[in-house]
Amino acid sequence: MKLVIRQDLACSSCGSHHVVKSGKSAGRQKYLCRDCGKYFLADASYHHHSRKLREEALRLYANGMNMRAIARTLSVPLGTVFTWIKR
Ligand SMILES: [Zn+2]
Repeated sequence: MKLVIRQDLACSSCGSHHVVKSGKSAGRQKYLCRDCGKYFLADASYHHHSRKLREEALRLYANGMNMRAIARTLSVPLGTVFTWIKR
């Protein structure tokens, strides 16, 4: 198995980026989280996770929190928060 650590891919259960590719399921890439041991599918879980985080980031920003604090609060890279807010 190939170890993958990607900032744009997070475990749907614990949010960890410490995941490995683990074959395919119904044509979609399946991943295994090395931190919590759960399997998840890349597209469905990741996008769901990402959209919720993005909404939360925008809400915090609207409430006056700065980007660095948002990144720390949501455990996402500062660059990602910046992209969400500037989009
Ligand atoms: Zn996990």
